Amino acid sequence: MSHRFVVVGGDAAGMSAASKAKRENSDLDVVVFEKGEWVSYGACGLPYYVKGDVEELEDLVAVPPEAFREKRDIDLRTGHEVTAIDAEEKQVTVRANGETFTEPYDTLLVATGARAIEPPFDGMDLPGVFTLHSMESGERLREYLETEVLAGTATGGGSRGASDGDAAVAVIGGGYVGIEMAEAFAEHGLEVHLFEMLPHVLQPFGPEVADVVEEHLRDVGVNLHLDTRVEGFLGEGALEAVETESDAYEASLAVVGVGVAPNAELAAEAGAELGDSGAVAVDEYGRTSLSDVFSAGDCAEATHTVTQAPDFVPLALTANRAGRAIGQTVTGDPTPVGEIAGTATVKAFDLQAARTGILDEARARNHGFDPVNVTITASSRAHYYPGGSDIQVTLVGDRETGRVLGSSMVGEEGVPKRIDTVATALHGGMTVQELQNLDLAYAPPFSPTWDPVLTAAKVLGGKLED
Ligand SMILES: Cc1cc2nc3c(=O)[nH]c(=O)nc-3n(C[C@H](O)[C@H](O)[C@H](O)COP(=O)(O)OP(=O)(O)OC[C@H]3O[C@@H](n4cnc5c(N)ncnc54)[C@H](O)[C@@H]3O)c2cc1C
Repeated sequence: MSHRFVVVGGDAAGMSAASKAKRENSDLDVVVFEKGEWVSYGACGLPYYVKGDVEELEDLVAVPPEAFREKRDIDLRTGHEVTAIDAEEKQVTVRANGETFTEPYDTLLVATGARAIEPPFDGMDLPGVFTLHSMESGERLREYLETEVLAGTATGGGSRGASDGDAAVAVIGGGYVGIEMAEAFAEHGLEVHLFEMLPHVLQPFGPEVADVVEEHLRDVGVNLHLDTRVEGFLGEGALEAVETESDAYEASLAVVGVGVAPNAELAAEAGAELGDSGAVAVDEYGRTSLSDVFSAGDCAEATHTVTQAPDFVPLALTANRAGRAIGQTVTGDPTPVGEIAGTATVKAFDLQAARTGILDEARARNHGFDPVNVTITASSRAHYYPGGSDIQVTLVGDRETGRVLGSSMVGEEGVPKRIDTVATALHGGMTVQELQNLDLAYAPPFSPTWDPVLTAAKVLGGKLED
């Protein structure tokens, strides 16, 4: 009998694993259980679907279900929820179409992803209050936006339609999803209130980036409420206002984007160890503490390349990469899932922000580093070449070893690919001196002779020698 590889969860991690395993060994019996109807979708595109840059929800699908079934010969079963894992008997319990049954496995991958955190706010269940994580939530949000807010038919106060120019919406949480949603709503001509309980937006990007982004958000008309804790939602039959500690703000739609929690319960209830983050603890091959059970993606931890400690940074490439590696491993070719550097980027209206590695001083010290940082501003192009703009680069190094620890950047162009240079340096364990000596591409339309990354490394190198 052929080896049976069962996957729970049909998105980035799960479908990458299933596809790779089948590609490497077509004799494998690969079964995927996905509780929803969508598979292989790009949730990352949901803010742009709400904004209108992406027209159809289907456009976010990378590979349609039929292609997995017919071209890749994967037994993909949508509408099938795995409710339990019996690691002793090596079987899963599945619920589908009102029935419950068990299915055996030889190797199991838990790729159940994460879910949007729903704070216990009053009025969280009012029509007009949304989280944004699943495809269904994106579809509901856009429909409500179009029919109840933009069409000017919302029952909520202050909702007079975009044509009036002052229908108000709220975004709770200044993380990357919150900022992308602020842009999406502003694009529709709505008055946007963004509430963040911390002193800054984009907390993982550090205050240097946040300062610049916050100024820009205000410039483009976003009403920014920092240090402001939302307490609940008010409305008769539908959302009418957002209540904070001290005020109430009219809003006919609100998106709560306060982070995600790993869907680790399925694995935990089967006895798999969880890490401090609450996500599934895995080794370098994505193996859990249960025999023949792997985990990958937003439900699992990963090893941080700078600290070599487990970390939880739920992002798309990490999920795809780990899934692919596990798909290879189950065919008998052990392949590490790879380390992460926490590299992330976000578009904030006309700005690009990015970060990688360890930026936070306390965190760096906890891991035994003595962090030193510099922040420089340089031009994105040669000074004489038209169209350039400032890029602000913060670079962090370790005083004792000279090693690069992390970086953040913000500017109007060329930011994400420049952060990738530093991310590469982190994966290579490079020192600030080595970063400074890199032979990077130069031509006037693309960078100054000394790229801003090199300039930051030169300045930090000097400071490390002090
Ligand atoms: C709005 C938004 C914007 C984002 N933007 C970015 C970005 O710009 N860059 C970036 O890197 N990342 C981004 N992400 C994160 C990225 O989408 C995730 O990291 C990625 O989808 C993780 O893939 P995954 O396969 O681990 O989990 P998921 O995509 O969450 O998929 C898990 C699947 O498992 C299914 N499932 C769960 N439990 C069960 C069960 N018991 N039985 C059967 N099926 C189950 C779920 O229905 C789901 O389909 C964004 C996410 C969102 C929501």
